[in-house]
Amino acid sequence: MTQSCCVLGCHKDRRGNFTPPLRFFSFPSWKQKQGAYVSDVTRRRRLAWVAAVNRTNVTFDSVSKYIVCSRHFIKGKPSYEMFDQDPDWAPSLHLGHGEPQSDSPVKFEKKRCMKTKRDEERMAKQKLENMISGDNFDITDLQVQHVQLLKAFGEMQTEAAKLRAENEKFEDALQSDFSKLSYRFLKCDEEQLQFLTGLHSVTFDWLVPKISRIIFRVHPEVKQQDHLLIVLMKLKLGLCDDDLGYRFQIHGGIITAMCQTWIPALAAVLSPLVAWPSQDAIVKTNPSIFTGGVRQCCCIVDTFEVTIATPNATTKVASYLIGATPAGAITFVSLGSFSRKKSDRQLIRESGFVDLLKPKDLLLTNKTLPIQKDLDAIGATLLTPDVAKGKKSGSTKRWTFLWLCGATWRR
Ligand SMILES: [Zn+2]
Repeated sequence: MTQSCCVLGCHKDRRGNFTPPLRFFSFPSWKQKQGAYVSDVTRRRRLAWVAAVNRTNVTFDSVSKYIVCSRHFIKGKPSYEMFDQDPDWAPSLHLGHGEPQSDSPVKFEKKRCMKTKRDEERMAKQKLENMISGDNFDITDLQVQHVQLLKAFGEMQTEAAKLRAENEKFEDALQSDFSKLSYRFLKCDEEQLQFLTGLHSVTFDWLVPKISRIIFRVHPEVKQQDHLLIVLMKLKLGLCDDDLGYRFQIHGGIITAMCQTWIPALAAVLSPLVAWPSQDAIVKTNPSIFTGGVRQCCCIVDTFEVTIATPNATTKVASYLIGATPAGAITFVSLGSFSRKKSDRQLIRESGFVDLLKPKDLLLTNKTLPIQKDLDAIGATLLTPDVAKGKKSGSTKRWTFLWLCGATWRR
């Protein structure tokens, strides 16, 4: 079906042979996606075209099936859509509504302006109605927000209760931490730390990273420093594993495992520190109390025993020979002897201690050691305190002083 011009009384269609030739134009589109201004202008333009045609069946929403011919435009075609002041912005000629068809452009413009004004008033009214209905929407929106806020408030109350419970749990855990032994708290009390471990915090802190490089934690929840604390307390105080387990709130078996792995690791780290120094170094570091006959003392030597618990409730004893400089540096530790039948002389000979001595070396000891013959063979001397003479000279403190001054030595 051939489309014809929709203007009342025109009926021109594309098949007609007109001079000049006619052109046909679709109603303008309403461009809603190019911003508010373009949307407004194009909307008003379509309204203007519908109003110009002024037919009941041609409405704003039904224009797609209608066309308008070039007879109804002054310049024979519509102007650019944004030129809303142009006479050809909408059809204006031969509209078939009974008005004189020779309206001048000025008269037409006046009419069009009046119509545009009416359109604008109608749009303003519509806008006001939208605003009023918008107010109702706002109230509904506030009600929705109120419900959402109430819901959020309930969730926050639940979250707060959960956090309070967690806080109480952490407080309990913290209280528990305070009640058990830990290096974290002990390091602030040098006296207690030294009593428990024999070390100052400076030495302890130096040792922790060195040993941590070569040994892993036995218990993942016990810190490295507390592993060391446990092992040192075991060595210093000789506490049983269950006792340490109660103090640190872990199973005694874990204490056993810690000692079995960490003591060899400690030995690996610390054994290089046990070295035999030169005679010059010893003399330079001797305390001032070492004067007179004991000034050249190179080593204070002694034996000691360590009692070792065994799984079958019996005990073993290990004997050791230990040597130290007068300044207190440990310079020799023998391997342990676990045989009660082995004499001190045998222990000392097998330890290799005598091989370190040179002629004229002077050793001190506080008890009789049966190695005088071995020392005589290399020209070294071992002095022991003359107990009988020393005791006559007064208090223990004074006796010790005299003992060190060599006033009561016997060979
Ligand atoms: Zn027409």
